[in-house]
Amino acid sequence: MTALQLSLERAARHSAWHQCASSAVTLASALPAPDPSLQANHLISDLPWRINEVWRLRWGNKWKEIWWRLLLHGVPGAGGHGISWARGSACVCGWQVADTAPCVVRASQQREHVFWTCPRAQVALDILAKNLPPGTSVLPVHVWLLVPPSPCVNERVWWVVCLCALNAMRRLRFCNTQDLQEHALNLLLEGLKDFQACQGRQPSLATSLSHAHPFLATDANLNLVPHLIP
Ligand SMILES: [Zn+2]
Repeated sequence: MTALQLSLERAARHSAWHQCASSAVTLASALPAPDPSLQANHLISDLPWRINEVWRLRWGNKWKEIWWRLLLHGVPGAGGHGISWARGSACVCGWQVADTAPCVVRASQQREHVFWTCPRAQVALDILAKNLPPGTSVLPVHVWLLVPPSPCVNERVWWVVCLCALNAMRRLRFCNTQDLQEHALNLLLEGLKDFQACQGRQPSLATSLSHAHPFLATDANLNLVPHLIP
């Protein structure tokens, strides 16, 4: 790959991250955000560092991949690569994008729907909110860019639980169960347990967590244990 190709690739990646962050900022605004671009610039400034650190977590890449794809707008079935659902088709919840909107707009609205506004995504987000200190809001930037919503949450634990939640949101769209809340809880627990199992005897994370830390806590022997309030 030539230097020019590399710099073009870097620019394309940066632009996709910026678009993702702007979309997350806009999603949280009741009114049109004055200039989501400025906040997006700030939000993505430490993204290369965070991506590196997340990649270095001792955990299977199958859990991490969804975030990397979300940032690049590349999740198939969620408007990824600018490919929107066929005109006239709807989400399992009944939501439809405006048929008249251009394809690129529809694709971007689908990402927002699948990973935020869909009632199925909200089931997973509600569980995150319930486990945070009272009064903490969970915003799209917290979940899409893995920024902890409260200083009370260890940032690595937040990364792990967000990756579990993003994977759960995608899987919840394809399940037929009546009890979505229970299913979402099981999906999140499955992810946390898998992460816990991958840590082996490496105590680095456990030593910085309390017995009551949300999402992942420690037991009397300083082992990591999932800690999720339904
Ligand atoms: Zn939906």
